[in-house]
Amino acid sequence: MRESGCPAPLFDSHVHLTDPQFDADREAVLARAAAAGVSRLVEIGDCPKHWSRVLAFARARPKTVRCALGLHPYYADQYTDELLSRLAEHSLLPEVVAIGEIGLDYTRASVPAPVQTAALRRILAACRRWEKPVVIHCRDAYADLRAIVAEIFPSSPPPYRFWGVVHCFSGSPDDAAFLAAAGFALGADGPITYPKNSALRAAFLRIGPDHTVLETDSPYLPPQTRRGQRNEPAAATQICAALAELWGMPGHEAAQIATRNALALYRLG
Ligand SMILES: [Zn+2]
Ligand SMILES: [Zn+2]
Repeated sequence: MRESGCPAPLFDSHVHLTDPQFDADREAVLARAAAAGVSRLVEIGDCPKHWSRVLAFARARPKTVRCALGLHPYYADQYTDELLSRLAEHSLLPEVVAIGEIGLDYTRASVPAPVQTAALRRILAACRRWEKPVVIHCRDAYADLRAIVAEIFPSSPPPYRFWGVVHCFSGSPDDAAFLAAAGFALGADGPITYPKNSALRAAFLRIGPDHTVLETDSPYLPPQTRRGQRNEPAAATQICAALAELWGMPGHEAAQIATRNALALYRLG
C-alpha cells in the first residue's frame, strides 16, 4: 500500500488523542501528523467526565483541532435530561463542532440495548433541533440504527450537506447506501486496508467519494501495516491511499474530496 500517495491537506475527522496512551509523546504524535499532511483533527469526547479535557486540548490548538462531545454507548446509562442540558450549553462553544460520539454497540457495551436506543433517540432529536452535526458510533446494530435514523431524520433533506457521520462505518453495502441517502457521511478507518475486508470496501465503492470522510479513530483501529500497535493520525495517509485505489483516482484527488466532505460535515468554512 502506498503511504505517500495522498499529499496535504488531510482531515482526520475522528481521534482520541487525549487518551492516556498518548501521555508520553502526544506532541510527537501531532508533529508526525503534521509532517504527513494531516492538518486538521476532530478530537472526540465520549464520556462526560472527559469533556473538559477534550475541550482544553482543542482550545490549546485552535488552528488544527476542534472537538465533539458526547456519550458513547458504553456510558448510555448515564443519560439524564440534566446531561442533555449540559450538552446543549456545550454545543454553543466555538470549539465544539459536533455532538458525539453517541450510538449503539451491541457487542462490547454492557448497557442494555433499550437503554442505548432511548439515549440515542433523545440526543439525536436534540441535535436536530440544535442544528448540530452528530457523530454516531454503531457496532453490530445497523438494523436498529436505520430504524432510528428513519424516525428522527425523515425524508426531508439536511439543511447542510450532512446531518452527521456514522463513524468507523462497519455495516453492509445496503446499510451504507441507506445512510448516505438519509443524509449521513460515513467514516472510513484502518479496517478498509485489511486484505480480508472486501465487504467493507464494497460498501465504500457503493456510496462513492461524496459521502466518505477519513478518520483514524486513534489510538484504535490501526491500518494493516500497524496491526496490533497504537494507531495515530499520520496513518490517515494509508486510509486515503486505500480509498484512492478503490475509487480509481489519484491520491491527491481522494484526499481533496475527503477533506472537503469533512469540512462540510463539521461546517467549517
Ligand atoms: Zn466509536
Ligand atoms: Zn471514537
